[in-house]
Amino acid sequence: MAQSNFTSYKHYKGNRHFDVIIIGSGISGIALGAILSKHGKKVLILEQHYTPGGYTHTFKRNDYEWDVGVHYVGEVGKQTLLKTVYDYVSETPIQWADMGEVYDRVFFGTESYEFRKGKKQFTEYFTQLFPEEKASIEKYVQLLSVSGGAARWFYAEKAVPKWLSFLAGGIMRKSYLKFASRTTAEVMNELFTNEKLKAVLCAQFGDYGLPPTESSFAMHAVVASHYLYGGFYPVGGSAAFFDHIAPVTKNFGGEILIRARVKQIKIESNTAKGVIMEDGKEFTANQIISTVGVVNTFQHLLPEKVVKENAYTEKLKSTKPSLTYHCLYVGLKHTAEELQLPKSNFWIFPEVYDHTKNLYDYINRKTDKLPGVYISFPAAKDPDFQKRFPGRSTIEVITLTNFEQVQQWNGTRWMHRGDDYVAFKKKISEQLLEYLYTYVPSVKGKIDYTELSTPLSAKHFANYQYGEMYGIDHDPARFENRYLKPQTDIRNFYLAGQDVVSCGVGGALMSAVLCGSAMLGKNMINEIISSAKK
Ligand SMILES: Cc1cc2nc3c(=O)[nH]c(=O)nc-3n(C[C@H](O)[C@H](O)[C@H](O)COP(=O)(O)OP(=O)(O)OC[C@H]3O[C@@H](n4cnc5c(N)ncnc54)[C@H](O)[C@@H]3O)c2cc1C
Repeated sequence: MAQSNFTSYKHYKGNRHFDVIIIGSGISGIALGAILSKHGKKVLILEQHYTPGGYTHTFKRNDYEWDVGVHYVGEVGKQTLLKTVYDYVSETPIQWADMGEVYDRVFFGTESYEFRKGKKQFTEYFTQLFPEEKASIEKYVQLLSVSGGAARWFYAEKAVPKWLSFLAGGIMRKSYLKFASRTTAEVMNELFTNEKLKAVLCAQFGDYGLPPTESSFAMHAVVASHYLYGGFYPVGGSAAFFDHIAPVTKNFGGEILIRARVKQIKIESNTAKGVIMEDGKEFTANQIISTVGVVNTFQHLLPEKVVKENAYTEKLKSTKPSLTYHCLYVGLKHTAEELQLPKSNFWIFPEVYDHTKNLYDYINRKTDKLPGVYISFPAAKDPDFQKRFPGRSTIEVITLTNFEQVQQWNGTRWMHRGDDYVAFKKKISEQLLEYLYTYVPSVKGKIDYTELSTPLSAKHFANYQYGEMYGIDHDPARFENRYLKPQTDIRNFYLAGQDVVSCGVGGALMSAVLCGSAMLGKNMINEIISSAKK
């Protein structure tokens, strides 16, 4: 079942009532669809875009194909909990390609560092480079796993019934909040003295979009430990998520509709009853779930009166949209092998080992120098790539930015944003290409196609109002917010998606498990583990 093979809402003539309606077909929406379908629910998934999959979707131009929002995942090299969940929600298991011994390669100007697969290799490598920090490096790696252990209770609390959360919620959340309520910089400064080491270990901050001075250490620890045992790529590209998971909903008689934008969630007597589509027609259901992010959900999909009455206006105040990004999609008429493209991702920073300064100097327009550039080489990572695109390869080159940078064109029409926008895109594209040529000189003179997406593209295609890359910010305040859980104060209305757990396909996937647990009133983690043993 390919992501291109779906019924458009316009042509749909089937049922108007379902057990469950899920808004959004990203990894969280389709995984939740699979869980609920396996429990006998008739599910309808509504997706506003013409390609389903949310940030896991791929797009094609001129016989090239690119991933939009997945470049690697972790914790799937052996039968971990995460892999067991992926297997449970999939019709057939996703195949994972190992990225090899070095998953991330970090550059500060001309100095380079490696993120090596395996706790021992990781520790030894950094100890060799920074011997005076040996004890702190060991303590740091230990801290990552202690934080991960505490996360289990914190997230379990999100799925328990209200009465239990009231009685035991404080205790269940307490030990993780010790990590979550501190910034990454606070913890790193306490552990290490070497500024270079601190900046290198925080190089993956682009995976959650907040520099160390603002991000919660818990989020830093999630990402660092997620990849500690290596990076993996879904064979067939990021569309593999949708292609493997979505059929489960269809097999159980559910529906997935594309070009199906929900305008409003229908609420009567504080109870969710259905959804109103853009054309004014309705679907009804016993339960509704939004996976489109809390900003979208509470500011756009729910009636204002309901949001106010349930005090969500207040709750949203401490919630900030995450940063956004530009991505240059590059196509080449040469294979990854011919160009000697690596499997490792490149993280390239200015010479200054200070992520906060680099980022804010750019965002506040004090400099034109990009704060960091990330390069991914899907053609090298995917063993299936040559079968699908013989003689070709693709590359994605990304940098972080804020929505203000493109604010002046907000409201213009896609493909008709004006000459000044085209000139702006040209400038960013040239900057990104310069990085690509410097760090991957083999591609010089070989590029056949480029296309730049800006924050306005993320807004247009994924419907994030500020082009958010990762939903809401992963700062300490986020982890204090108790409303970020599946069950809401509106009857029969639930939340899933990256805002409920964390960004990343793994985080969004686990939000589906928590939401399924809350809706079905059972511990889905235990059920998934026991079903894997059968
Ligand atoms: C550039 C980039 C790179 C990334 N790289 C990685 C990576 O390497 N590894 C990793 O693990 N994670 C990565 N991520 C993060 C990861 O992709 C996301 O955290 C995850 O996919 C989010 O899933 P989701 O289901 O919560 O939401 P989404 O995927 O955003 O899905 C929400 C869906 O809802 C739809 N929708 C919105 N409004 C409506 C409406 N009104 N009606 C109907 N449908 C609607 C949207 O179109 C969208 O399809 C990256 C993200 C980006 C942007």
